[in-house]
Formats: sequence, C-alpha cells, structure tokens
Amino acid sequence: MTDTCCCPPEAGNTVCELPAQNFQRPPRVANVCPECGKTARPVQGQTVKALLSVSLREVRDVEYLFCRTQTCPVVYFSPDGEQTFTVEQVRERVYQKAPDAEDVFACYCFRHTVGDIRAASSESRMAIVDDINTGINVGPCAVICEICKVHAVWATCAG
Ligand SMILES: [Zn+2]
Repeated sequence: MTDTCCCPPEAGNTVCELPAQNFQRPPRVANVCPECGKTARPVQGQTVKALLSVSLREVRDVEYLFCRTQTCPVVYFSPDGEQTFTVEQVRERVYQKAPDAEDVFACYCFRHTVGDIRAASSESRMAIVDDINTGINVGPCAVICEICKVHAVWATCAG
C-alpha cells in the first residue's frame, strides 16, 4: 500500500495529500469482537432485546454477535463493530463472563443458576437441561432458551 492517491501520475499523485483509500475504514473480519478480537457467535435480536438493560431504541435491526471471552467486557456487538453492549448494559450477569459465580443464571427463563446445576445430582442436572429443552420447544421462552441451553450445558460440564 502506498500513500499515493488515485490521481494519475501526471497529475502529481506522489505529492497529493489525499489518502489513497478515500476515507474507508480498514476492513473488518466478520464475527470478530472489536474489543478482544475473538470469534463471536450470532444471536437473535430478540435475545439481545430480552437481556439488555438499555433502551431498546438503541437496538438496531441487525444480527448481533455474542462475545464469550471471559475477560472481555463486550457481551453483544453489531456486525460492523460500531455498536457494543458491555456487561454493565446487560440485565443479567452472563455466565461466560463470570463462570465461577454460583448465583449467575445459566437459564434466564426458568431461573436456574450455575450453583443449582452444580449442586444437583446427575439426574437432576438432566432434568434441568430437559426443562430448558422443553422451554425451547413449547415454552414461553423460545426466544432466549437457545442461549440458556448453551449456558446450562457448559455449567453442567464444568461441574
Ligand atoms: Zn470480546
């Protein structure tokens, strides 16, 4: 990449002060968190709306991405990386950001905490995961249970 602009050489492009890339941002890699640079996964807009503590007017009609890097403050961000929601802007504590907290909800819908799941016998754990699965299929919480399921499975494994 040179500092020349797009003017032809006879127009003196070597001394032109315009940047060659007319105000374009450097290209972003899709699905990568603008804060920590790790790959994130897409989440449904409804999930974001359900969990954010900020005005929903700020939520745009895009497919947000979820950063699960424990040390990264960003929870959700827009695909263009311009909008981020941090842990302070999410109503519930996020399991991936605080995996050692016993009172963090693995399932937001039925209020199962990580501590509940860890303390449960293996049959009870299965029942909790079943409960969440049922919620995905028939319950009122089909919107965010996909997230809960992932959290619960991780919590189960971690226990
Ligand atoms: Zn991140």
